[in-house]
Amino acid sequence: MTDSRNASPATSPMTRLAHGGRVEGSPFVNPPVVHASTVLFESVAQMKGKSATPARYTYGRRGTPTSETLEALITELEGAEGTVLTPSGASACVVALMAVLKTGDHVLMIDGVYGPTRAACDGILKRFGIETTYFDPHVGAGVVDLVRPNTRAVFLESPASLTFEMPDVAAITRALDGLGAARPIVLIDNTWATPLFYRPLDHGVDVSIMAATKYVVGHSDALIGTIAAGPRAWAKIKSTHGDLGMFTGPDDMYLALRGARTMAVRLAHHQESALTIARWLETRPEVSRVLHPALPSHPDHAIWKRDFEGASGLFSIVLKPCSEEAVAAFLDGLALFGLGYSWGGYESLAIPAFPSAIRTAVPWVAEGPVVRLQIGLEATEDLIADLAAGLDRLAARG
Ligand SMILES: *Cc1c(COP(=O)(O)O)cnc(C)c1O
Repeated sequence: MTDSRNASPATSPMTRLAHGGRVEGSPFVNPPVVHASTVLFESVAQMKGKSATPARYTYGRRGTPTSETLEALITELEGAEGTVLTPSGASACVVALMAVLKTGDHVLMIDGVYGPTRAACDGILKRFGIETTYFDPHVGAGVVDLVRPNTRAVFLESPASLTFEMPDVAAITRALDGLGAARPIVLIDNTWATPLFYRPLDHGVDVSIMAATKYVVGHSDALIGTIAAGPRAWAKIKSTHGDLGMFTGPDDMYLALRGARTMAVRLAHHQESALTIARWLETRPEVSRVLHPALPSHPDHAIWKRDFEGASGLFSIVLKPCSEEAVAAFLDGLALFGLGYSWGGYESLAIPAFPSAIRTAVPWVAEGPVVRLQIGLEATEDLIADLAAGLDRLAARG
């Protein structure tokens, strides 16, 4: 569903954000926000699918011009066969896993996966008889040694939530290709990079998932998830999404489509500001390490440089050893960074993070407390001043 006035020349993702996701033949640049459950048919014959003019739409849950335009835009950006929308990023991860797994199956899950995805593995998937093994984010080609006869899926996230390790996705998918017909489906949570900075399907991944809540929506208001799939997984994703009765509110779809129009320019600012702040934090005596893949000091920097077109605005810092009270003094007094979950919106956020309590495959060992920062669209120098005052408070507490 693209702008088809003239056959569009091959264009960059930035141009597709402006021209993709339109209703064909409509004079309006934006699609209608269709609030619909019931869709009327012309005749019994059309209801039965036996009319010369087949029904374009059948029922609200089965698709509307609003859902189709957003799906088409994401499909185009991800280079996928198709996309489905879910009511949140968390539901997108679970629906995708349920689509490719069944009772008795085994799934390999990256240690460092987003917490609620882990909770779903240890909860609903386990209850339905699916076993999960967590693996070292740096497993690389060694992933094949973990594959069992019943392993049907490998789930990645790059970079890892909170700790920002980057799995070598290309090495993993290449090694799995060697399994031939027994190759598990490879899924990835691509929320951090978005398809503007990383296209997983170009690297052998079958399913790319986004919490569009973050950078696509971009304004901290709507929750929505996307699952884009290549040929090996698309039919399963589409049918399971339907079987689970998934649909997303049209207003939230519209907010995601609207957000997508400016995603490239927002990401450019997030990227530049976050890098400037990350480099500055590396010079602060209170900071031991900055966990940002685009910094040459990051252990997986070479992977980021090889495969990614950019870096977004979320990273963590490891502080030098200090008390919990000192961390609280740092964070509680921040004026511009809010204390809150989620990210990808226009405003900056900070959270204390506790990866060692979550990890099971490889223990998280760090010299001091971890703080995760989401760099918003404020002026970079204002954010640096806010963080500088916070680190001064931290140093004063010791
Ligand atoms: C936030 C997040 C999700 C979940 O998205 P929601 O829309 O909040 O449910 C999934 N994966 C990652 C990596 C996230 O950061």
